[in-house]
Amino acid sequence: MVDDCGRTWMKLVYRYRVKSLAGLLNKQARTVNFVWNYCNDRQKDALRFGRRWHTGFDLIKLTTGCSKELGLHSGTVNDVCQQYAKSRSGSHRPYLRYRGRKSLGWVPLKGRELKREGNAFRFAGNTFRVFHSRALPEGKITDGTNFSRDRRGNWFLNIVLEVQAAPARLPVRAVGIDLGLKDLATLSDGSRIAAPHIYRASEAALAVAQRARKKKRIAAIHARIANRRRHYLHSCTSAIVGAFDYIVVGNINASALAKTSMAKSVYDVGWSSFRTQLAYKAVKHGAWFEEVNERFTTQICSDCGAVPDSRPKGIADLGIREWRCCDCGTVHDRDLNAALNILRRGRATLAVGIPDD
Ligand SMILES: [Zn+2]
Repeated sequence: MVDDCGRTWMKLVYRYRVKSLAGLLNKQARTVNFVWNYCNDRQKDALRFGRRWHTGFDLIKLTTGCSKELGLHSGTVNDVCQQYAKSRSGSHRPYLRYRGRKSLGWVPLKGRELKREGNAFRFAGNTFRVFHSRALPEGKITDGTNFSRDRRGNWFLNIVLEVQAAPARLPVRAVGIDLGLKDLATLSDGSRIAAPHIYRASEAALAVAQRARKKKRIAAIHARIANRRRHYLHSCTSAIVGAFDYIVVGNINASALAKTSMAKSVYDVGWSSFRTQLAYKAVKHGAWFEEVNERFTTQICSDCGAVPDSRPKGIADLGIREWRCCDCGTVHDRDLNAALNILRRGRATLAVGIPDD
């Protein structure tokens, strides 16, 4: 959605577990079911007597004035009616299933009915707290916000928030990328991008030209190396931005490794161009890009989160490609394990996106 000023807005769902309020919500969920089933009955009536099927607006008119008696907020009653009509028409069935004890609890509310009070919220005359698992950014709380109960009986508050965002794409397909020497990049989905050993391939030709002191030839070879590398990196980064909506990369720094015996490899791969390209292409195409601290990502077990004694340690253990976590027994590919850890670091701040309609 784009507003008058040309800014892009997107809706994100922030989900928090509710600390108290379970009694009230359980009661309200039963009443919500009652309203839902009332809507279903009216729909069946319309079928039986050959009348026009009810729209959400019709159902709202039919339920007007009942909210006080039911002990529900009128916005909630309206939302149930609208959701019923929407689900019914979306299901392509004449009527829906009744909601009962086995249905997962659900209490919708109008965005404006939920008020923030610091880290707490106010709804229907009650102030309640949530497990503040992530910060809720500023933004308008919109309709679609609801409470929902999972199979274990825990209540969650799902806040639909309208936030201004340059990235327009939904962060559905996420990837963590470990930059390395053996492979240029290892992706958390298990795929690998080979390092461009273009410099080495042209080394012999370059040596000949240098011995012959052919300045033009030397410059041409250098330009060709640079072009090939650029082209290679561009095609790799374009493919990644095309394939993933949310890209997390470690902040590995080439200058530290350049002082070791791996120097030639480091200068050959071009991590920084790789990251720069990913960053601007992500913005351009509406994907998300995040750079995270890659410290210890090779040493932590991506399966159990431990830092086991059997881990590969630092630059000295760069040769270790595969290791086994002595805590949980998982056998890791060194780079894939790092990519999974990098993805996890980025994901800590990622909310689940929903379509903006
Ligand atoms: Zn482990």
